[in-house]
Amino acid sequence: NQERLAKLQHTVTTSADGVGVTLAANIGTPQDIPNVLRNGAEAIGLMRTEFLYMDADHLPSEDQQFAAYKEVLAAMAPHPVVMRTLDIGGDKPLPYLQQKPEANPFMGARAIRRSLTHQEAFRSQLRALLRASAFGNLRIMFPMIATLDEFRQAKAIYDDERSKLTVKQVPMGTVKVGMMVEVPAAALLADRFAQEVDFMSIGTNDLIGYTMAADRTNQDVGYLYQPYHPAILRLVNRVIAAGHNAGIPVAMCGEMAGDPIAVPLLLGMGLDEFSMGAGSILKTRELIAKLNAKDLQSLVETALNSASTSQEVITMVQAAVPGLL
Ligand code: PEP
Ligand code: MG
Repeated sequence: NQERLAKLQHTVTTSADGVGVTLAANIGTPQDIPNVLRNGAEAIGLMRTEFLYMDADHLPSEDQQFAAYKEVLAAMAPHPVVMRTLDIGGDKPLPYLQQKPEANPFMGARAIRRSLTHQEAFRSQLRALLRASAFGNLRIMFPMIATLDEFRQAKAIYDDERSKLTVKQVPMGTVKVGMMVEVPAAALLADRFAQEVDFMSIGTNDLIGYTMAADRTNQDVGYLYQPYHPAILRLVNRVIAAGHNAGIPVAMCGEMAGDPIAVPLLLGMGLDEFSMGAGSILKTRELIAKLNAKDLQSLVETALNSASTSQEVITMVQAAVPGLL
């Protein structure tokens, strides 16, 4: 089994009928890179930069961040690396950043909301990222975007830091700037967002939690955490279609992207990039090679239009892809 998968390490990812997709990895620190390369990732679809911040007892300096980002970008070049700006709060508190206690941290001042009100840390991270961009293929992504105003504000701060570095003649690479779609409001308005962002990446871990109104860390409501729920599938499909209508690529970096039941559906919907834990990449490449993307479009249509429950969707996928589970 290991040997069979190892053969796929240096191959591209293509469906049986020739549709190419990118299989990317989710990482936390530069130390994850050797394992990512061993597992044949074609890109980094999500670097959760919080880990650099969580491993210390104070905010890392701009230079410390720069060194870490540069290491990842250089190791992956020329492949793209999507780095997400700070996603602090919710399930990722930072003990040394005095945060006000909140009754509902998941609905509170987390991620981009906090970056926009605490701009110093945000700006220092953007400068570190921009300086590192000279060493590889960087894409920057903002987490938890709910409104266009938030994206525009974050982008304006990015533009501001970029122009300041340009004046100082700091070398920088071309950088795409995109957003995570993990708040249902953003998924519903994806067609508008798609006019202004360079790319979208669907964060299903939070999107499922917020859509089902179930805390992702609370086991008592874990049964509501249903990636194949028709409501979730409709949101995901909507985001992919909106991105493609606007001519931008759509990725997924939540756990769902590496889930064998979800993969046929996502391939049928036309998802461009699947980003997952490194350990799932080769298995997913092998699965996609057996799938016929064109045939899966009718599975998607049936799942979107006639399924009422997650179980119905699972049964449909198993019927369409014999031997899946
Ligand atoms: C997500 O929400 O799906 C995601 C990828 O981000 P995180 O799990 O870090 O919140
Ligand atoms: Mg998230």
